[in-house]
Amino acid sequence: MRFIFIGPPGAGKGTVAKILSRRFSIPHISTGDLLRAHIQQKSELGRQAAAFVDQGKLVPDALVIEMVRTRLKEPDASQGYILDGFPRTVEQAEALGKILRDEGMVVEHILNFDASNAKIIERLSGRRICSKCGEIYHVRNIPPKKEGLCDRCGGELIQRKDDSEDTVRRRLEVYRRETAPLIDYYNRMRLLKDLPADLEVAELNPILDQLVK
Ligand code: ADP
Ligand code: ZN
Repeated sequence: MRFIFIGPPGAGKGTVAKILSRRFSIPHISTGDLLRAHIQQKSELGRQAAAFVDQGKLVPDALVIEMVRTRLKEPDASQGYILDGFPRTVEQAEALGKILRDEGMVVEHILNFDASNAKIIERLSGRRICSKCGEIYHVRNIPPKKEGLCDRCGGELIQRKDDSEDTVRRRLEVYRRETAPLIDYYNRMRLLKDLPADLEVAELNPILDQLVK
């Protein structure tokens, strides 16, 4: 099963990806996570991407496309995956279409997440992430059992640098300008399914069952 997730930052893509990744035993491939890993490891790609990510701007298409092409060739992606945060431009969507055609593969589900700007800012400002395993928390909506520590692995919970309010606003602008056009692009191909994303985690499961049966 192959999924593509489209939606603004903070619309809950990462949370839904984790649910579906466990349900179907397929990897959650987040280009944001991949880029942050490169930046932390100070790889050549990481050095080139860091300034864009920190400012909430898009990393140039050529870099991201090459990174995804490489990632999709890994064995764990052979039975499917969830692409979260890619494609983010029409050029990336076209590159992905070509990668899929070359491999004779199709994407079964393209989910369109949406959420109001107010909800997004509330979510991102309270978001905390496990520095070890990547599990997502929220100070009010999904609090860990012990403050500041991950329930699953005990890792320290941190706030992403680009979750500061100014950078969130920039990321929202970039989304509406560069990525929202993909909604039309995939709608024209009749591939898109809308997910009402102003929902809380408990309300999600029955809706996902409906969408993905
Ligand atoms: P969010 O969707 O919450 O903004 P991500 O973790 O998906 O966060 O992305 C964080 C940053 O990584 C983006 O602001 C951008 O700089 C970079 N990035 C991630 N995916 C892409 C992509 N497909 N194309 C260009 N830049 C990307
Ligand atoms: Zn953890």
